Amino acid sequence: MNAPERSHLLEQGLNCIKDFPVLSTSVHGKPLVYLDNGATTQKPACVIDAESQFYRTTNANIHRGVHRLSQQATDLYEHARDRVRAFLNAAHADEIVFTRGTTESINLVAQSWGRANLQPGDEILITGLEHHSNIVPWQLLCQDIGTVLKAVPINDRGELQMDAYAELIGPRTRLVAVSQVSNALGTVNPVDVIVRMAHDAGAKVLIDGAQAVAHQPVDVQSLDCDFYAFSGHKLYGPTGTGALYAKRELLRDMPPWQGGGDMIYTVSLTESTFADPPARFEAGTPNIAGAIGLGAAVEYVRGLGLDRIAAYEAALLHYMTERMQGIEGVRLIGTGAHKAGILSFVVEGIHPHDLGTILDAEGVAIRAGHHCAMPIMTYFGIPGTARASLAVYNTPADVDALVRGVRKAQELFGTE
Ligand code: PMP
Repeated sequence: MNAPERSHLLEQGLNCIKDFPVLSTSVHGKPLVYLDNGATTQKPACVIDAESQFYRTTNANIHRGVHRLSQQATDLYEHARDRVRAFLNAAHADEIVFTRGTTESINLVAQSWGRANLQPGDEILITGLEHHSNIVPWQLLCQDIGTVLKAVPINDRGELQMDAYAELIGPRTRLVAVSQVSNALGTVNPVDVIVRMAHDAGAKVLIDGAQAVAHQPVDVQSLDCDFYAFSGHKLYGPTGTGALYAKRELLRDMPPWQGGGDMIYTVSLTESTFADPPARFEAGTPNIAGAIGLGAAVEYVRGLGLDRIAAYEAALLHYMTERMQGIEGVRLIGTGAHKAGILSFVVEGIHPHDLGTILDAEGVAIRAGHHCAMPIMTYFGIPGTARASLAVYNTPADVDALVRGVRKAQELFGTE
């Protein structure tokens, strides 16, 4: 994208600020500038309304009731599943398991697929760019069953070392788990290449799409990944929602990982038989209203257009990167060739938490800390970074407010 194209996109914007009620509020008497979208996004009125409408008009438990409301609630819940299927371009709705989010989706794969398919000595390959959610579940599994966890190293730009990837994927590798976009640095990983490398070695692939689904089109069929995990709340949907996509033939053979109502076929006092997927993996009453809200969120994002969103956010990231690079004493952490709307940085002489507090006083919300990615911070030899992360409603004016806030912090600390 050249400079005139970028300024044209930035001038036009996505015209969606009006959809987000919270964005017209203020913080400490200043208009809210929300740049903490990597942690969670704000919710458009259509998502808030979908949830509240459900509670006002249709609330009932699903799948079990013979009465009218229960049937309507079931239809809405299953319709939401089909919306998520279409959003990811999965072939079948029964390949979509509703979960509490990315973390639960990954734990589901570890505890169900992992325990059923892995032997002591088998290898799971993760990377040095992962969120703790894509590290700890594998560590717990390895401790329990004797599988071996390996990690692909990163380079100084915060990218995966692809030659090391090729070396580390070996005959013992049974699963490759990788994030599509790093939450701490914004690096976009070449997941299409990684899927091919893993499949050539006979390994399955799990993609952590937590930071990807809201920012670029995702097509699980063309990616050919075996598992894809994401969270609703980073996609303008409700907290405590999300999904796991898994290929039908894999899900069919996976054992349950949690027992309870709704996941069974028959139960006696000594043994049970289990429902087909996805019900087998949705024990107990799920977050029905949340799933319906998530369905509304994916429709909202599809309405804006993922290609448009990707292009706009790329232009805005470029603007933010240039402006922040222009401040003396600011060091960007994560300077890979392919990045999505996240900028991590440190400011000389100012702890990220202090910076976050000063920015907050200016109405600017960013995140400061290790971003649940401590191995990345260890690699760069820093305790944490400040992170500004973009969403559809952010504008160049938000970036300008961030830049003003950083300069103000430097003045206060006498480091300008
Ligand atoms: N993976 C990545 C890349 C993330 O950014 C996050 C959330 N920060 C997670 C996993 C975990 O998501 P959740 O807390 O919604 O389960």
